[in-house]
Order: sequence, then C-alpha cells, then structure tokens
Amino acid sequence: MHINLIGCGVSGLTTALVLQEEGHTVCIYAEKMPQATTSAVAAAIWFPFSVQPREKANQWSYESFLVFQEMVRHEPSAGVSMIDFLVVVENEADAWWQPAFAPGTIRPARPEEMPLQAGLGFMTHVPLVESPVYLDYLLQRFWEQGGKIVEEKVKHPASLLRKSDFVVNCAGLGARELVGDTGMYAIRGQVVKVAPRPQTRALVVEFTIGPVPGDIAYILPRRDCIVLGGTAYRLDENMIADPVQTQSILERCADLVPEVSHLPVIESVVGLRPGRDCIRLEKELNLNLIHNYGHGGGGYTVSWGCAREVARLVAQS
Ligand SMILES: Cc1cc2nc3c(=O)[nH]c(=O)nc-3n(C[C@H](O)[C@H](O)[C@H](O)COP(=O)(O)OP(=O)(O)OC[C@H]3O[C@@H](n4cnc5c(N)ncnc54)[C@H](O)[C@@H]3O)c2cc1C
Repeated sequence: MHINLIGCGVSGLTTALVLQEEGHTVCIYAEKMPQATTSAVAAAIWFPFSVQPREKANQWSYESFLVFQEMVRHEPSAGVSMIDFLVVVENEADAWWQPAFAPGTIRPARPEEMPLQAGLGFMTHVPLVESPVYLDYLLQRFWEQGGKIVEEKVKHPASLLRKSDFVVNCAGLGARELVGDTGMYAIRGQVVKVAPRPQTRALVVEFTIGPVPGDIAYILPRRDCIVLGGTAYRLDENMIADPVQTQSILERCADLVPEVSHLPVIESVVGLRPGRDCIRLEKELNLNLIHNYGHGGGGYTVSWGCAREVARLVAQS
C-alpha cells in the first residue's frame, strides 16, 4: 500500500520505518524537519513521563525498551546507550510505570543513593537516546528504504487521502490545528545543556522541587553535553528560554549532584511536549486515517510500541 504520513519527529519517523518494514511505501509530509521539532529538544531517556493511558503506555514502553536494547547491541551509530538512572517520585502511586520495565532493570533505591530526604527512589537501567544523533539515524534508514519527504504544512489530512491508500497523522502538538483536537495542550519544557563530564550520575525527580509548580529536576549525561532539566509547565507556549528558569534549573541540579555546578553552559533550549489526557492512537471509522499523537513527555519511550500498533491497524483494515 502507499501511505502518506504527516510529521517527521520521532513518532512520524519510527512509524514510517515500521510501515516500510511491513512492505508499504511511505511519503512523509512535514512542516519541520526532524532537527527543528520538539523531538530534537528531548534528552531523551526511556521513561514514561506524563504519558497516558497508563496500561497501554506501559505496554508500548516495554516494546520500545526491547527495540532500544537491540540497538545498543547492534547499531552503534544510532546514538542509544544503556545507563543507570535514579528515578525519584513522591509516593508509590506515582510509580505506576513499574510494569514497563524489563525484568532485572529496576529495584528500590538504597537510602545512601537518595539525593533528597523526600520521595521514593528506584534505581533503573534504561536506554538513553541522544536525540539529534538518533533522529539523523532514523532519517537515514527511512531514506535508504526508499522513503520520500515533502516539506510542507498539511491543511487537512483529507487532502492526502485522495493520493494514497492510508494517511497516518503523527503531527504532535500540530494535531491541534490539523484535526481540530481541542484536547491537546502544550507542556513547556526548558533544559540547560552544560559541558560533558564523565561519570556524572543520571537522575530525575519527577515532582516539583523548585519555586514554581512543574519545576522538576533531571540530569542526563550524554556524550556531547549533560542535559539539565527542567520544567513541565502546562499551557505555557513561550518558546524563548527564560534566563531566570535557567538559573533555577542549574541550582536545583547542583543541589542534587554538586559535580554539575560550574560546568560551562552551552545553551538553554525550549520544547513544547504534545500534551493530551491520553495518546490518540486509533483509526477513524470508515476512513483510512490513523492518528498517532499526543505522546506528552514520553514520545521516545513509547515510539516503537505505538508504531507497531499503527502497523497492526493498517494490516487489519
Ligand atoms: C524538554 C523536553 C524533554 C523531553 N524528554 C523526553 C525524554 O527524556 N524521553 C521521552 O520519551 N520523551 C521526552 N520528551 C517528549 C518527546 O520529545 C515528545 O513526546 C516527542 O518528541 C513527540 O514527538 P512527535 O513526533 O509526536 O512530535 P514532534 O517532535 O513535535 O513532531 C511533529 C511533526 O509533525 C509536523 N507537523 C505538525 N503539524 C503539521 C502539519 N499541519 N503539516 C505537516 N507537518 C506537521 C511537525 O513539523 C513535525 O515534523 C521531552 C520533551 C521535551 C520538550
């Protein structure tokens, strides 16, 4: 079948690759190329943050976990590695994502491993995806498999339906305008990239610990930089990095892991997570249009599971 797919972030590229591997030809329509999308701003750790519905998110995350693990073994150019990662949540109920972890990759943190008095910690071993490298890797694979990209903004999916057997909508936050989804909202994330430093510990504190609700904290050491986060501000769409927030992020992270203080700042960047009360992954009734968007703060984490679900929906039709 010939499939037109909207969106060239992590969701669109991953879905396009899975569809190609099922034998379909795929053309991507994208307003922005991968390095200019929200996906390029993510750090990105495998972790189901701000993503719903929980049961399916766990299943999609687990499926993706296994794919990333294979990449670590066999695809050194993909920019994926496995790292030890401490996750701190406020209470047991907030650790709903435990079933998503592969056996042997999660355990309760010991008291001496906790950087805070508050919260409940888990030591995990998870994939870290260096987003700029990984997006290039996906793009390359898509092109090598005969994929085409048209750089343009789509006004309505119906215009593409006339030219293909199926249309798949992976427009992220852009779905709000594209299909008039009023349930979509932005969750603004600002991060600060500082110079890399070997053996810096990786962690996330998933609840507010800064002055403003949504002031979370995370430290993700990559080869090119350490990504310090961050913010998760609902309904805030300011794309300019705020220097006050940069300072606050630096202080929060240095309180948790003092080694990161005084590392030279490379840049502060902002991305808008595609928030939705739950991921929209469904086929429209009587229409060959499938939606795959609204992945919140876990677009990488669920990417392969969601892409395979799209392929199943195509196969069932
Ligand atoms: C600061 C920050 C940190 C994050 N950290 C993580 C993390 O550690 N782990 C994780 O799993 N996730 C993380 N995320 C979340 C993750 O980045 C998103 O869930 C994911 O990038 C969403 O991908 P997407 O492909 O659906 O959307 P996007 O990356 O936004 O891509 C959407 C694509 O659709 C195109 N598009 C939109 N509308 C149209 C239209 N009308 N016509 C044509 N094209 C259109 C866009 O141009 C773009 O190509 C983070 C996000 C942020 C902001």
